[in-house]
Amino acid sequence: MTPLISSSAVASSSRVNRLGSVSLVLEIGNFRITSVRAGSYWWDGGTFFGVVPKTLWAKTQPPDEQNLIEAGFNCFVVENDERRILIETGGGVRHDERARARMRTPAPVRIREAISAHGFEPETIDTVINTHLHWDHVGGNTVDEGGRAVASMPNARYFAQRGELDHARERHPRDSVSYREVNYEPLLEAGQMQLIDGDSEVLPGLQLTVTPGHNRSMMVVTLKSGEDTWCHFADLVQFAVNVTPTWVSGFDLYPLEAIDNKTRLLTQAAAEGWWCSFGHEPVTSFAQVESKDGKWRTINNRT
Ligand SMILES: [Zn+2]
Repeated sequence: MTPLISSSAVASSSRVNRLGSVSLVLEIGNFRITSVRAGSYWWDGGTFFGVVPKTLWAKTQPPDEQNLIEAGFNCFVVENDERRILIETGGGVRHDERARARMRTPAPVRIREAISAHGFEPETIDTVINTHLHWDHVGGNTVDEGGRAVASMPNARYFAQRGELDHARERHPRDSVSYREVNYEPLLEAGQMQLIDGDSEVLPGLQLTVTPGHNRSMMVVTLKSGEDTWCHFADLVQFAVNVTPTWVSGFDLYPLEAIDNKTRLLTQAAAEGWWCSFGHEPVTSFAQVESKDGKWRTINNRT
């Protein structure tokens, strides 16, 4: 199936930010989406690709001598004339030295500085969306000030799924290590995090959809404006190469549901020419999807 490239103005442009790195901007209808990669980390390639043989995934995600591959902390600022929304806050800076060495992140990136370098001051963010509460998506939710953890985006309302919080608090041995209370409990205590039950439209056109697979309550973010659609798949599609629906992550708690949900959403993305973003893809910020003769790939990759 060949994607229909929308005839309306879907423009993507790059500009050089204050730190000298390139920021990619995608325009969807009345909205501007800026890709903010808050650094990256290196993690075992096998855990990301599960049952996919290394001989296949290593072609696109070359591992180092310890079998680690690079994974981006991918965040996005979505704005129109009235609103400025941050999706995900990266991995944060609270890891100890051993963990930093293990993940090859000697100088982790602070989300406040990362968005500021792209021209967005933290005080101007009105909404933060946490697709789920794993540390690598919410690690920048809070900062330490005066001996306590407070919101890194001081004027924002944070959104997370109630089911995800319940699961985080269960501390199941399978994924307890993914959750750190400092990333969400202080926000709940301060009344700054709003829990949502199921699907939600945070503003007209911006939809949060519970999409089980990676875990029970992770949300996919879709933005529809004018003729165009952008979808942030978060960890349902971690890398661009994961657009093949059966290439699910070894981290996924519900791999069969992940395959079903990926097949459904990616088929729609290919048919309707959606622009897509992925949870940990370290190179491509935005891409469209093509499905042809049973083979899936990204096209028009904006890097
Ligand atoms: Zn993740």
